[in-house]
Amino acid sequence: MARYIGAKCKICRRESEKLFLRGSRCYTDKCAFTRRGYPPGSHGKVGRRKLTSYAIQLREKQKVKAVYGILERQFRKIFRDATQKAGNPGANLLIALERRLDNVVYQLGIASSRTQARQLVRHGHILINDKKMDIPSYLVKPNEVVKLIDSMKKNAAVKQSFEERDPEKMVGWLQLDQEKMAGTVVRLPKREDITLPIQENLVVELYSK
Ligand code: SF4
Repeated sequence: MARYIGAKCKICRRESEKLFLRGSRCYTDKCAFTRRGYPPGSHGKVGRRKLTSYAIQLREKQKVKAVYGILERQFRKIFRDATQKAGNPGANLLIALERRLDNVVYQLGIASSRTQARQLVRHGHILINDKKMDIPSYLVKPNEVVKLIDSMKKNAAVKQSFEERDPEKMVGWLQLDQEKMAGTVVRLPKREDITLPIQENLVVELYSK
């Protein structure tokens, strides 16, 4: 499956905010946005011209795609599905993104970034209700248990991200069993569970043009 392989820190600098795309590095003074908080490129330091409303909408959409690590084609499909459901399409979009298995693995602290989480899923290290699930875009459902396979529990990268996770940041729709490195989906996420600074209405407006 295609994925973005460019420099992640450039995305933060382009969007003028920290998007925490590189795991624990994002919390250190090695963070590129902390060191060079201006847009990339030779004109980056000059400052940005006033953005048009289209550019603002486009930037917001690019930001959401970068946060969840999704490319345009798949993102459009998720958006289309979101518009076909009852309720606010923007909220439906974010809820669908939040339910992705790679995001759940990241939220549980088993991985320090969604990229690392996706790799764990793809390599068959994640179980759902004790069955292997290697599709990062799988949407979790209530009462499902997401678990790391036993042989990976001693993996240095996994141990580090699990130890460094902030228990205060655990989302309310997941319940973590620390001993088993497993999480239960207690309910579907709601819009208010998603605390990322995202204005989903801008994405809806962009795709409605
Ligand atoms: Fe963004 Fe900083 Fe993390 Fe790079 S290290 S992805 S700039 S938050």
